[in-house]
Amino acid sequence: MFFSFVHTIKVYSIIKKKIMQIRNKIVIITGGANGIGAALARRLASEGAQVVIGDIDGKSGQKLINELNQNYKINAAFVFCDVTNFDHLYQLFDTVQNTFGGIDIVCNNAGIGQFGEFYDQTDNWIKTIDTNLNAVIKGTQLGIQFLKKRGGGVIINTASLAGIYPAKFLPIYSAAKHGVIGFTKSLCELNDTDNIRVNAVAPGFVDTHLVQNISKIMPKIAQSVEKLGLIPMDEVINAYITIIQDDKLMGDTIMIPNKNNSQIISKS
Ligand code: NAD
Repeated sequence: MFFSFVHTIKVYSIIKKKIMQIRNKIVIITGGANGIGAALARRLASEGAQVVIGDIDGKSGQKLINELNQNYKINAAFVFCDVTNFDHLYQLFDTVQNTFGGIDIVCNNAGIGQFGEFYDQTDNWIKTIDTNLNAVIKGTQLGIQFLKKRGGGVIINTASLAGIYPAKFLPIYSAAKHGVIGFTKSLCELNDTDNIRVNAVAPGFVDTHLVQNISKIMPKIAQSVEKLGLIPMDEVINAYITIIQDDKLMGDTIMIPNKNNSQIISKS
């Protein structure tokens, strides 16, 4: 596996590690109807978790839920939720609490790209910040509130390599993802009192609608994807599983470098 840790380098000890079991855990995944969130939902459901997807894409979300329930004999559910609407987010958490009796794992994953060059835009960039950063902060705040009722749990925020390096052509997306990592890192004390771990995952390019759409409107991004290659989805999902299972990880970011392991994202 090609993980590297940004905040602290962890030395693993199989003996000391306490593994969190995934079976029967109640998991919320925002943006779980497609892409990385959907792959994570499949993996967690296959290991016996109860997955609830909050997304604005009802058609794909419901289709995925039907697939999960049929394949894994669980009670996965879909809740329509626009993460930029904090009332929706609260309803998502409250519905899961009331339906399943608690929440163990929260994945603040919903995200969008940047709509073209920053220089050409009016205020479209605000939506990128609202979806990719503000919703993660609110989702974490709600996550802490609800996980406390359970005596603890895990929150995973989806960041990006663009949150570690400057992303030349995507300054707004990069600002949001830097925010996600800084925010996550700053919560590193939480585990001491509330038994809640908050960590982030920062992948390079993965073949999803987000990357396909952004490549269509921004040829420079398409060229970068071509040059750097796409990370296999399994590698990304393994990072989430590592965070769920390793109780030593807190305020950390697991970085997953691009396939060809050079940089789109450069400091020059
Ligand atoms: P995707 O477009 O396949 O999936 C994103 C999902 O989020 C979709 O189901 C979409 O309907 C949902 N969504 C969008 N806006 C929403 C909103 N306001 N409320 C609720 N749901 C909403 O893209 P993806 O690549 O799977 O993206 C998932 C996360 O991974 C994002 O946070 C993205 O920034 C991050 N990421 C992606 C890549 C990549 O290369 N694909 C790399 C690094 C990080």
